[in-house]
Amino acid sequence: LAERLQGTIQKIKGKGKVSEQDVKEMMREVRFALIEADVNLKVVKEFVKKVSERAVGVDVMQSLTPGQQVIKIVQDELTELMGGEQSPIKFNTKPPTVIMMVGLQGAGKTTTTGKLANVLRKKYNRKPLLVAADVYRPAAVQQLQTLGKQLSLPVFALGTDVSPVEIARQAIELAKEEHHDVVIIDTAGRLHIDEDLMQELKDIRALKEPDEVFLVVDAMTGQDAVNVAESFNEAIGITGVVLTKLDGDTRGGAALSIRSVTQKPIKFVGMGEKMDALEPFHPERMASRILGMGDVLSLIEKAQANVDEAKAKELEEKFKSQTFTFDDFVEQLQQVKKMGPLDEILKMLPGANKIKGLDNVKVDDKQMGRVEAIIYSMTTAEKTNPEIINGSRKKRIAKGSGTSIQEVNRLLKQFDEMKKMMKQMTGMASGKGKKKMKL
Ligand code: GDP
Ligand code: MG
Repeated sequence: LAERLQGTIQKIKGKGKVSEQDVKEMMREVRFALIEADVNLKVVKEFVKKVSERAVGVDVMQSLTPGQQVIKIVQDELTELMGGEQSPIKFNTKPPTVIMMVGLQGAGKTTTTGKLANVLRKKYNRKPLLVAADVYRPAAVQQLQTLGKQLSLPVFALGTDVSPVEIARQAIELAKEEHHDVVIIDTAGRLHIDEDLMQELKDIRALKEPDEVFLVVDAMTGQDAVNVAESFNEAIGITGVVLTKLDGDTRGGAALSIRSVTQKPIKFVGMGEKMDALEPFHPERMASRILGMGDVLSLIEKAQANVDEAKAKELEEKFKSQTFTFDDFVEQLQQVKKMGPLDEILKMLPGANKIKGLDNVKVDDKQMGRVEAIIYSMTTAEKTNPEIINGSRKKRIAKGSGTSIQEVNRLLKQFDEMKKMMKQMTGMASGKGKKKMKL
């Protein structure tokens, strides 16, 4: 898919404005990517509509091609849709903080209870108490106890004959007495949502208003996850979501669907069976994953890195004050090497599209290493003041860098051209200012 998306981008590259047709074409690809990632159809529709509105007629930033820009909008909106920022755990100012884990059987509640406790202790310096409130499967209590042992964390269990509500009640009491500042209740799941289960969860909820009710959802379940999330949210009200099994090959579309259906933040993602495989949820990363567009994204990053405002400003200042040296040049080269051909990059510089003759500036990136060698063979004085490089200096530099005098000459000429070009550019940029000064 990334390839197809790239193709579409290529087509509209270089246009000044993004037309409705361009956006339509790109959105077709985006829609495809989302559906492929198992995003709920309704969510896809709304999303595409929203992005299309934003994308049509967007003025093309000088640094980004229209295609990249549309993708950037898609990426931004996806990120926004999934909460934008990372959502932290809500702690009670009056301990213990009560966290309830709910979800279907096999979603990963028990495992996540252990992982979460581990995170709480390690990163938040808390003293969690784990509560085995799944009394329907004897193995479930054991499973949590095993995890507790493994993590050296206390597990509160009363076997399988006591009601989950009673277990939770006693656990919260004990936590107060023994100063456990977080109580994590591992509840029972069912294969499907049923009334009994919901009632039980509501009863536990009623004991002491939990600070968090985390719905644990298996990311692999795709579309089904939406129904599950909706039902749980309507029946008992959730405060956040933990998406497990993202270490599998799912594209994670469930994240988007769940978030937009429940409007509840995804707080963590499970990345494996081990106790340290719980990570905070990063909307931005998930957006990339859903679109499956690593390539496209790196393209955007490339362009963004290049228009790093502060750097561009600094450079402009240097050009203006004529202090741009070969040291700056080599620094640029190093950055450029990571990005691609220098002439391409030059075109991305702010204002570059207004410069005539830029197309004639060609830097062969295979020559980049040689260019660097030449610059490294210059003295500081030469780097700062290239005018002083006379015949004998050229000879020395060529020898030192293992190149030829012709190559040294070529570089000097290129540098000169670049400087001239930049002067032209900054002259244009400061045109307004000059007018003002006349007044
Ligand atoms: P519960 O029924 O909701 O309590 O689910 P469990 O915690 O017992 O987990 C069910 C299965 O999923 C177990 O085999 C876990 O090891 C596995 N599991 C849970 N979370 C993850 C995860 O993030 N990645 C992977 N690969 N497996 C997980
Ligand atoms: Mg369990």
